[in-house]
Amino acid sequence: MKPKSIPLRIDVLTIFPRMFPGVFSESLLGKAQHKGLVRIAVHDIRDHTEDRHRSVDDRPYGGGPGMVLKPEPVFRALKATGAMKKRGKKPFVVYLSPQGKPLTQKLAGELRLKKHLIVLCGHYEGIDERLLAWVDMEVSVGEAVYTGGEIPAMALVDAVTRTLPGVVKEADSLFWDSFADGWRGRLDCPHYTRPAAWRGRTVPSVLLSGDHKAIQRWRQEQSLKNTRKKRPDLL
Ligand code: SAM
Repeated sequence: MKPKSIPLRIDVLTIFPRMFPGVFSESLLGKAQHKGLVRIAVHDIRDHTEDRHRSVDDRPYGGGPGMVLKPEPVFRALKATGAMKKRGKKPFVVYLSPQGKPLTQKLAGELRLKKHLIVLCGHYEGIDERLLAWVDMEVSVGEAVYTGGEIPAMALVDAVTRTLPGVVKEADSLFWDSFADGWRGRLDCPHYTRPAAWRGRTVPSVLLSGDHKAIQRWRQEQSLKNTRKKRPDLL
């Protein structure tokens, strides 16, 4: 019998592979792999070096501060994970970079359709610019500079995996997330749980009314109010 194909394969290339196991094995990411919805592998770029010191970085041409990831070990890591394959089977290569396209819910949804993603993490001053010839998209997780691409890669892998059918148990919760279609791109409404009265603060009475139409109306109003206050640019 033909083995069931995995909807999404993700290969992460990093010089700090030990940063990943905790994040990737817990919660939804762990469950998604267990259910065979995604296959995530983390590869050490140092395994593709040839010198005794397994060196992956060097000083920048032209001088200046910091170090740069050398092209050859990264190139070999890309090649080993299939980045140089011919058109049809070619994985989609993402390089995490503060200079990239902002990671949004829409982009996460697009990336999950790629079937095979290679996620390249830079470090120090970044990667040798010539490697961009094999990068399909640079993606940023916000206008702040992180020490390395590892934490941004975790954010990207999590956001992309969450959009795979079957990963979030109740598909409806994706529909009613911030930026999603339920709110027509706006922010989510506030949420409350038991007890109804807690340390002098009460839950809005409409949520206890059992009137589903009124609750839905209230939630839509709150989503609008939330968005106006926190992210008016989304309106
Ligand atoms: N000198 C680079 C610049 O200003 O564009 C920043 C280098 S940063 C210290 C090291 C690595 O962290 C980058 O190569 C990139 O992989 C990752 N990184 C840092 N900030 C990021 C962000 N906001 N989004 C995605 N990746 C980021």
